[in-house]
Amino acid sequence: MPLKDNYCYRIRNSLYLNLTNRCSNNCDFCIQHYTDGLAGSRLVLSREPGLEDVIGSIQSHLSQVSEVVFCGFGEPTYRLALIIETCQWLCRNFAGKIRLNTNGLGNLIQGKRIIEPLSGLIDRINISLNATGPEEYEEICHPSFGEDSYPSILEFIKQAKAEISRVTISAVTASGVDMDRMEEIAEELGVGFVVR
Ligand code: SF4
Repeated sequence: MPLKDNYCYRIRNSLYLNLTNRCSNNCDFCIQHYTDGLAGSRLVLSREPGLEDVIGSIQSHLSQVSEVVFCGFGEPTYRLALIIETCQWLCRNFAGKIRLNTNGLGNLIQGKRIIEPLSGLIDRINISLNATGPEEYEEICHPSFGEDSYPSILEFIKQAKAEISRVTISAVTASGVDMDRMEEIAEELGVGFVVR
C-alpha cells in the first residue's frame, strides 16, 4: 500500500505545513539527510499538495494550536502562491498566528520580490542565515544559486524587516558557525536571533 503524504505535523502548540520537498540548498546539517520525517510524521511527499489538500489536512487541528508555521521538508517559498492562498483561507478560519520559516532565497527562487505579497498575511518570519559570510554560506549550505545567495538573503532580511512585525534570523549549532558573530549580525540588521 502506498505511504500517505503528510501535509502537516504538530509540535506542541504549533501546526507545521509541509508544502514541498524542493530546496535550492543542500545544507550539511539538513534533517533530510538522516530521516524521512519529524514528530512521528513521514514528510517525504509523493505529490505536492494543492489548497484543498492543505485545508483538508489542517482543519481538524486548528482549534488545538495557537500558531501555523510554513516549514516542512523543503523550502516553502517554492510554493509561494499556495502560501498566499493558505494564508488568505487561514485569515478567515483561524485566530492564531502565522509564521514562515524560510532559507531567505525566495526572491531568487521566484525571480521577483516575494515580501510584498506576504505582507499583511504572516505575523512572523524566521530566515535561516546560517553563516557569517558568503564563503561560509557556500561551504555549509551548498546553494544552487552560488555566490548570489548570501547577499540575496541579507537583502531579503532588510525587505522583511520593512514589512513584517517580527523578524528573526537563525543558525544551527551543528554547523559549527560562530554564534557570537551571528548574534552581532542580527543586531546590525536590527532583527532577532534564534539558535536552532
Ligand atoms: S535550506 Fe533547509 S530544507 Fe533546504 S537543504 Fe538547508 S536545511 Fe534543508
